[in-house]
Amino acid sequence: MIPDSFLQFYEAELSRLRQKGLYRSLRVVEGPIGPTIQIDGRSLIQFSSNDYLGLATHPRMMEEAGAVLKRLGTGMGASRLISGNQQNHAQLEKELALFKETEAALIFSSGYLTHIGTVPALVGEGDWIFSDALNHASLVDACRLSPAKVEIYPHLQVDFIETRLKATPPRPGARILIVTDGVFSMDGDLAPLPDLMKLSEKFGALILVDDAHATGVLGPKGKGSAEYWQLDPKGLLTMGTFSKALGSLGGFITGPEMIADYLRNRSRTLFYSTALPPSVCAATRCALRLLTEEPQRLLSLRENIAYLRDGLKKIGVDSSPHPVPIFPIIVGSEEKALHLSQALGDRGLYIPAIRPPTVPANHCRLRISLMATHTREQLDELLSGLRELL
Ligand code: PMP
Repeated sequence: MIPDSFLQFYEAELSRLRQKGLYRSLRVVEGPIGPTIQIDGRSLIQFSSNDYLGLATHPRMMEEAGAVLKRLGTGMGASRLISGNQQNHAQLEKELALFKETEAALIFSSGYLTHIGTVPALVGEGDWIFSDALNHASLVDACRLSPAKVEIYPHLQVDFIETRLKATPPRPGARILIVTDGVFSMDGDLAPLPDLMKLSEKFGALILVDDAHATGVLGPKGKGSAEYWQLDPKGLLTMGTFSKALGSLGGFITGPEMIADYLRNRSRTLFYSTALPPSVCAATRCALRLLTEEPQRLLSLRENIAYLRDGLKKIGVDSSPHPVPIFPIIVGSEEKALHLSQALGDRGLYIPAIRPPTVPANHCRLRISLMATHTREQLDELLSGLRELL
């Protein structure tokens, strides 16, 4: 029997969430994920997927993953360090390091697990972490797991780090880690990486940049933040995920072999979490090839970004000047965001309301995310819905 005291507590908490407009429930999507999805038998144009290039349903991805699945089965049955490291994992790491132009790559079972396994391993007692106030929850949680001193700096305000380090210098020998999203997932703005790099050189700090929304998206070849800002990728550590523009699943760190080797020996989520199925690695390997073989996808995404940015400007909504497929429309309260999302839903447009704790209180929003495969007609539908309802 589950004690009543527990059930009563959870029930009270759920009704508090309902009252505050913060209650969440799962919707079932019927059929594949694409620019249109089916929910409750209705076809909706969706602007909520991070499958930016539309690779998750690319026939070649499905074929290659399917072939490996048939040959090698559905699961690895152990962590990579025990018996869960198959040829597909090793090859993926090689190909990813080549793509990111770094010495080495290390893959994990998700982006979340990558952060959790990396940050607490990189710095410890007596060390410092500087973390942007709007970093992704997985990075926030990773910092919380580290015994290092964590300083949250105001969003994008790199000067804060320098002021802090000059005012209270860390003890000699302390390592300083700066962690930031490359593209901020809820705002679509970019970390000022060139400034951060200068700072890191000045103070001997290491930068860990989360390229979850930059990989496959930013830079002429979609290599991510370093390529976009024309920085040497060897000068920082990059984290990323395969679950967004690459249409697959899994997370990674790219950087020097020495750090990859250290993480192989120190990362708890590599030790204690089961390896990705080989079919998933096969899909990711296919995605990396498709980035070069089908450059038109990235170009289409960029065209869609420019088109929506112009359209939004005409209705008084400013967006990031960078080629990022994330457009936040900040409306304030939970009620407003939910109402707007519902009204758009009635018009056949699916854009969920984003509320705390995903975004700060009173910064509730609609987060529009674009895909390369959205058509002009679909973008026009979105713009006319927003024009009417905003
Ligand atoms: N970082 C950022 C910025 C993200 O948006 C996400 C996913 N929402 C993650 C990390 C975690 O990646 P994954 O989904 O692979 O766990």
